[in-house]
Amino acid sequence: MVETRPNLIDGQWLAGAQSAANINPSDTEDTIGHYATATRDDVEAAVSAACAAADDWARSGIQARHDILRAASDEIMARREEIGRLLSREEGKTLAEGIGETVRAAQIFNFFAGETLRLAGERLDSVRPGVDVEISREPIGVVGIITPWNFPIAIPAWKIAPAICYGNPVVFKPAELVPGCAWVVVDILHRAGMPAGTLNLVNGPGSVVGQAMLDDPRINAITFTGSQATGERVAQASVRHMRKFQLEMGGKNPLVVLDDADIDVAVDCAVQGAFFSTGQRCTASSRLVVSEGIHSRFVEACASRIRDLLVGDALDSRTQIGPVVDETQLQQDLDYVEIGRREGATLRIGGERLKRDKNGFYMQPALFTDTRNDMRINTEEVFGPVASVIRVRNYEEALSVANDTPFGLSSGICTQSLKLATHFKRNAQAGMVMVNLPTAGVDYHVPFGGTKGSSYGPREQGRYAAEFHTTVKTAYTSA
Ligand code: ADP
Repeated sequence: MVETRPNLIDGQWLAGAQSAANINPSDTEDTIGHYATATRDDVEAAVSAACAAADDWARSGIQARHDILRAASDEIMARREEIGRLLSREEGKTLAEGIGETVRAAQIFNFFAGETLRLAGERLDSVRPGVDVEISREPIGVVGIITPWNFPIAIPAWKIAPAICYGNPVVFKPAELVPGCAWVVVDILHRAGMPAGTLNLVNGPGSVVGQAMLDDPRINAITFTGSQATGERVAQASVRHMRKFQLEMGGKNPLVVLDDADIDVAVDCAVQGAFFSTGQRCTASSRLVVSEGIHSRFVEACASRIRDLLVGDALDSRTQIGPVVDETQLQQDLDYVEIGRREGATLRIGGERLKRDKNGFYMQPALFTDTRNDMRINTEEVFGPVASVIRVRNYEEALSVANDTPFGLSSGICTQSLKLATHFKRNAQAGMVMVNLPTAGVDYHVPFGGTKGSSYGPREQGRYAAEFHTTVKTAYTSA
């Protein structure tokens, strides 16, 4: 008997009239659970509850909010094996990656538990003698949180934890494909003492539940991670309601490999960055920009590593690459492999659907060579285990190719030259730059986000999260 997990609205668990099944992408026979689907009315009720709770929550005090965040961190950490397993079962990344992501979520809650105790403002002298100026941060109000499926616990954590830290009530809509981890996080926070209305969970389709959030003018700020197309809808709806918004929308991240790179480091960065987590990371290295002196050695070594990668059931401890998240995404990945071929790129290895004992969405990671930067496989985000090598003459051309993209999330370089690494750090058009490291894989205590078409609004994570989650008040006092 599979249980139906309810939504949380105004402190009450509500079953709802309909539910959706959560299916394991490693084994489509395995139904993980059923999750109640919210309606537009449910969203309205959730927003009403959040509005009603906002004032008291803003005045709840830093100790109370610290204690909730700390308790959530402790419980997530203590249950990391179980939650990590659920994560891998519903999303398809490997068990090690699932547990790693769960630990990261615990660390994020712990970080923001600390931040609640460091809420600070500034006091300045006024230019008018006898007048004091105080600058303080206040909650932004009701925060709408819309998350994607590729980081089922870390992204909800890095949006919910700062909202709680800075005293904002939350209406949270996770991605349809991964309701499991979202439910667990909300359950943990609810039991940790979130007052009624301060944390609402509304599961369901983006076109209904997400859209109802965008349409509700009482939501003061929306933080979104997902596709560019949906990001644009969030932006347009938010401008209409004059609300604050923050968007994180993917990338086409370059990893530059120069002739003087340590080949082992470069291949490791490329294979990890492009294919781990099944390539389903907005920071994935999908463009490998390689200078001609190292090109053939690099391609050979990458192809040989890819050949050895074990693609299989996410819950099998030997697996290195789990399945693609669902049939639609797998089809999109395979379509891009076909598009690359038709554009004249050479498929060096991989790119085909794989059969395993269980019926799942398995794909052999694909590496293209002989590609040009203006091909669709190098301009559009595939969001799967597909990467291209773009051959360049030298560093100058590499930098220009790396920057020649509408995106700007993460940009990497492998070189032993301090001079070129420094030049690259200064001139890469991206929010995050990696030297001799994969483009994917970031710390939890420092800002995350990009430039150009990748991101909009203030950065997420670390202390920079305060920019989105608070508004600044300047008070003048004449004593
Ligand atoms: P992805 O390709 O990662 O699924 P989406 O942008 O479709 O990207 O999904 C990211 C999140 O946005 C999901 O939670 C999804 O349900 C939600 N979403 C999709 N369409 C809308 C919409 N019209 N309004 C609000 N949210 C939406």
